[in-house]
Amino acid sequence: MAKVLVFIDNPGDALKKSSLELLTLARSLGETVVALNGDLNSGVSDEFAEYGVTAVYRPSSQDLDNYLVAPKAAYLAAAVEAAGAGTVLLDNSPEGKEIAARLGIRLGAGVITDVVGVDADGTAHKSVLAGSYTTASRVTTPVAVLTVKANNVTPEPAASPSTPDAVTVEVPGDSIATAARITDRQQKTATGRPDLTDARIVVAGGRGLDGDFGPVEQLADALGAAVGASRAATDAGWISHDAQVGQTGKTVSPQLYISAGISGAIQQKAGMQTAKVIVAVNKDAESPVFEIADFGIIGDLFDVLPQATEEIKKR
Ligand code: FAD
Repeated sequence: MAKVLVFIDNPGDALKKSSLELLTLARSLGETVVALNGDLNSGVSDEFAEYGVTAVYRPSSQDLDNYLVAPKAAYLAAAVEAAGAGTVLLDNSPEGKEIAARLGIRLGAGVITDVVGVDADGTAHKSVLAGSYTTASRVTTPVAVLTVKANNVTPEPAASPSTPDAVTVEVPGDSIATAARITDRQQKTATGRPDLTDARIVVAGGRGLDGDFGPVEQLADALGAAVGASRAATDAGWISHDAQVGQTGKTVSPQLYISAGISGAIQQKAGMQTAKVIVAVNKDAESPVFEIADFGIIGDLFDVLPQATEEIKKR
């Protein structure tokens, strides 16, 4: 059976939902092997077994996080060769895409980004033009490198668990010797909120917040939700770029997406239109966001959001 290698970067104590999605997709295409960067603790190890992973490849150097992505791509190329994998699946994050591009060059492999599904014959379905169309294409080189958007596969454990082999892969020394070393990192402030791409509820704010994310954050905390934002809000520096939802931000597919002070431009819709229920709060009744909203509230978000927060807190 063809081997499908999934790259998993620093999972921490448990795999993210998007990683479980990649493992599930990989199993539908062939034998699943993993190239892991980071610790293999017992929780992650159990999940690999549960999802039918047959081998876990790990780098000889535990130092890859101290560099920009070039050594990770070199390690991954070595893991693909060691495994004899025909397909590589990565996150569709900016870093995942950069690693995919570098991996494609190293292996002479075709790369498809923004993938939303893959058929058993390797045909990849790719979301284009801000989610307006889906194209079908197939890589013709021996190795295919695909970055897969989150929330397009339902995670499902294997019918029977596996016992993965552990394999160490030598990281090419030149890739580290010539790599740019990271000298400083900006610490993220821990919010205690769920991860945006995995969250069941997202409360997102846009330019209508006029620099004050307080009402969005308070509603999010009352609901146990993640906070998202339009690009207008992240570009203005009102909230971190990590929170951006849309074509050039994150794709979310929560049960509930509350959009406040966001007009609903096509690039914003691309990242949230698959939410199960969309609630829009906007003071302009003609705003395009109401075209995709299941529930629309025409009003000032500075009145509506605090009232909603108050009511939810009473329950
Ligand atoms: P606006 O369009 O200015 O809308 C603000 C809304 O708030 C208005 O509808 C207004 O009626 C409402 N409002 C104002 N005050 C209040 C109030 N007090 N109460 C209630 N409502 C109020 N955008 C993204 O979001 N994500 C992306 O990933 C993204 N990628 C892009 C990629 C490209 C290549 C390009 C060209 C653009 C991209 N954009 C993206 C930008 C996108 O086109 C829009 O400019 C952006 O989404 C607008 O953000 P907004 O809705 O917050 O602002």
